[in-house]
Amino acid sequence: MMNELLFRTARNVAQEVFGNRIYKRGLIEFSSYCKNDCYYCGIRRSNQSADRYRLTKDQILSCCESGYRLGFRTFVLQGGEDPYYSDERMLPIVSEIREKYPDCAITLSLGERSYESYKRLFEAGANRYLLRHEAADPNLYRKLHPEKMSLENREECLWNLKDIGYQVGTGFMVGVPGQTEEALQEDIAFIRKLCPEMIGIGPYINHKDTPLAGEKNGTLEQTLKLLAIFRIMFPHALIPATTALGTIHPRGREMGIMAGANVVMPNLSPVDVRKKYLLYDNKICTGEEAAECQHCLQRRMESIGYQLVEDRGDYHV
Ligand code: SAH
Repeated sequence: MMNELLFRTARNVAQEVFGNRIYKRGLIEFSSYCKNDCYYCGIRRSNQSADRYRLTKDQILSCCESGYRLGFRTFVLQGGEDPYYSDERMLPIVSEIREKYPDCAITLSLGERSYESYKRLFEAGANRYLLRHEAADPNLYRKLHPEKMSLENREECLWNLKDIGYQVGTGFMVGVPGQTEEALQEDIAFIRKLCPEMIGIGPYINHKDTPLAGEKNGTLEQTLKLLAIFRIMFPHALIPATTALGTIHPRGREMGIMAGANVVMPNLSPVDVRKKYLLYDNKICTGEEAAECQHCLQRRMESIGYQLVEDRGDYHV
């Protein structure tokens, strides 16, 4: 009863700003190599069983090409923190997408890099950057990451991205082991302070080959509650109903939209690599072509009275 009130309130806030329009972002998972060793993540460097791959520039461009034909106007390049994609290799990829698709937004999600690197990528044509802070509570952050990584650096990266002019997305996993109510309050406080254009939250889901294997997954209910809270706090924010949400419940993404989310991120990665970008177990949509994913999501959105639109879907107030 109280939840339904919360969800309805959030949904009404989203509808006032976006109507029944849902933005779609074409996700291109271009590398499963990662130098980091986050305890929750399936592609952490110590996972010897992970299949690793890298997409070439031409493969990435052909994902964009099929995405464009399907009506995508935002491409999201996401990968592990893979030093192979130095600025020298990354800049030509971004410039060429920028040149070929002047009407599209380019979103990067490459982890932590230097101020200068972020700046060069921005100047090459990237517009947005996704970097979840993961946990604003220092104790929790430390429980989830090895000593080499630091919350200070992660937060500094986010401030740098803002300073450079990116539209910035941050967020965290809901129900990650060790997450207390106080830790969640820290997350909310940090997000209030940063005022990001995008807020990505999804349930934590176990991966069998990580140190956290066997812990409990985050719940649908808690994830939906937090989505709704963020929507009410940030009426104009771009908030995805994530793939992880669709993984813990067959209609999770639809429920996410009904709790205030306004973005979906179908996968444009080549089908032969999809099963290799496994951040968590049982990830959905690993066997379908981009067109199938797109149509499936379109049907899902229509089933709840929403419409997927062909739009860059930039943040504005
Ligand atoms: N290397 C990039 C991209 C990380 S993958 C970066 O550091 O930003 C994108 C997100 O997936 C992560 O930020 C994390 O919040 C989420 N993720 C990783 N493992 C997960 C798991 N086991 N369950 C749910 N989400 C997970």
